[in-house]
Amino acid sequence: MRLNQHILVIRNSTTRLLAVALFCHLAATPLDAQWTKSVQFDDNDMAQDLDEALTFQKYPTYYQYLEMMEGFAAAYPDICRLDTIGYSVGDRLLLALKISDQVDEDEEEASFLYSSTMHGDEIVGFVLLLRLTDTLLKGYGQDAEITKLVNNLQIWINPLANPDGCYSWDNNLSMENARRVNLFNVDLNRDFPEATHGDADDSTGREPETRYMMSFMKEKEFTMAANCHSGAEVVNYPWDGKSAPHVDEDWYRFISREYADEAMAVDPDYMFGWPENGITNGWDWYEALGTRQDYVNNYLGGREVTLELSYDYQLASSELERHWNINERSLLNYMSQCLYGIRGKVTGQETGDPIRARIFVENHDSAYSVVHSSATHGDYYRLIKEGIYDLVFSAPGYLNDTIPGVTVTDYQATLLNIQLEPFGLSVPVQEAPVFRIYPNPAVHTFMVEPENVPHGEMELSLHALDGRMIYHKFHSYHGSGIELSTKQMEPGIYLLRCTIGSLSEVQRLMVIKP
Ligand SMILES: [Zn+2]
Repeated sequence: MRLNQHILVIRNSTTRLLAVALFCHLAATPLDAQWTKSVQFDDNDMAQDLDEALTFQKYPTYYQYLEMMEGFAAAYPDICRLDTIGYSVGDRLLLALKISDQVDEDEEEASFLYSSTMHGDEIVGFVLLLRLTDTLLKGYGQDAEITKLVNNLQIWINPLANPDGCYSWDNNLSMENARRVNLFNVDLNRDFPEATHGDADDSTGREPETRYMMSFMKEKEFTMAANCHSGAEVVNYPWDGKSAPHVDEDWYRFISREYADEAMAVDPDYMFGWPENGITNGWDWYEALGTRQDYVNNYLGGREVTLELSYDYQLASSELERHWNINERSLLNYMSQCLYGIRGKVTGQETGDPIRARIFVENHDSAYSVVHSSATHGDYYRLIKEGIYDLVFSAPGYLNDTIPGVTVTDYQATLLNIQLEPFGLSVPVQEAPVFRIYPNPAVHTFMVEPENVPHGEMELSLHALDGRMIYHKFHSYHGSGIELSTKQMEPGIYLLRCTIGSLSEVQRLMVIKP
């Protein structure tokens, strides 16, 4: 168990008074239990009918919520579709809307997820995501930014991840007795596989809400996601369950800062003060195990943060308009980040077929941060802070391909399409060979000598027979080529690729050790 001490600046949202408190809390303390329920929430905060719910100034009943979700899909059938993720313990629906330009197809586009209220009493995100849905649908074809998002992303919105907690047992008409947990009293944001415990990516024995969410997120392979909560005003980025920074912590800080800055531009008091004007590393706040954010980042190759959108859990309905105005820009900008970074398509060199490849950023990636291209289209999305990176593309049955010096700029996409060469023992001999290897078989050393190009630069990569790259370097040469040692090589057959300008060729090399 770990003891944390933080200086917290608590803002009373009504009087705007600032108070400073010294907080001591144990690692096991639920996040939001540190904050008291400070508002009077009653049935006056609930919408009287569907029309009032659609003003987004009141909270919907469960039935109004279902009507709103069906209504969005019915009113915008070309760009909106309603899907059922699954069912809660109490048999309520876990719903998600897909918003995209070709909504019935699995497109060659990144997938994005907004989700809210997995803690049933943290309700502001629920209404904000319904209003965001309305804004996206109405803005499509009208607003350039929204049109771009809908055209280029597959957007999924799950406004209510814990309906049993939100509508408390058997009352579908009120959130007055909303609870954090699900019907089995389980905190769903502690119910996901935990990497620091060595958990397998297995939903067996977990709550139904968790099991359905896990399979939904795996199937959709979300590039980016956010999970809306209440109890603070802060963007909480990975990790919740370990102190070591995420390899992309600079990117997480960048996108979190952008979210908080846009919100503070509308209301300087919002997200003000603790801990870093609206952003925090989860672990630096307090340790939490089994969170959805950590699951997505550890197991799924996705990028998810937790958005804490109000100090009050059951935020008064009179505050909904203000919270929308503060968060609207941030919510849209956050989605736009999903369009940047390195993206492209991986296909087979001869067939052009899409390939599910592993995309590894050298001297940067860890096992959890690696992304893959999709099997259906070969498209991939590697969100990363601006810089210069070397990428290695690998797939079973293909030779690795290393692309050095890939430049990434913030707020821009770097397009990088890759054609992988099938790996095979029979290496065709070209009519005019690019290079020759001698002696071959090699014992201690061998020469790589370019043909017909007397001097310049050549790129050499040496692969084991399973496609694994064991050597990669650029060499300048003059006349005689360059000499390499077999010292680090086991006896066997290797494939050597030599690229000079636009010419490239693979030849077999045998290494023998007397
Ligand atoms: Zn929460």
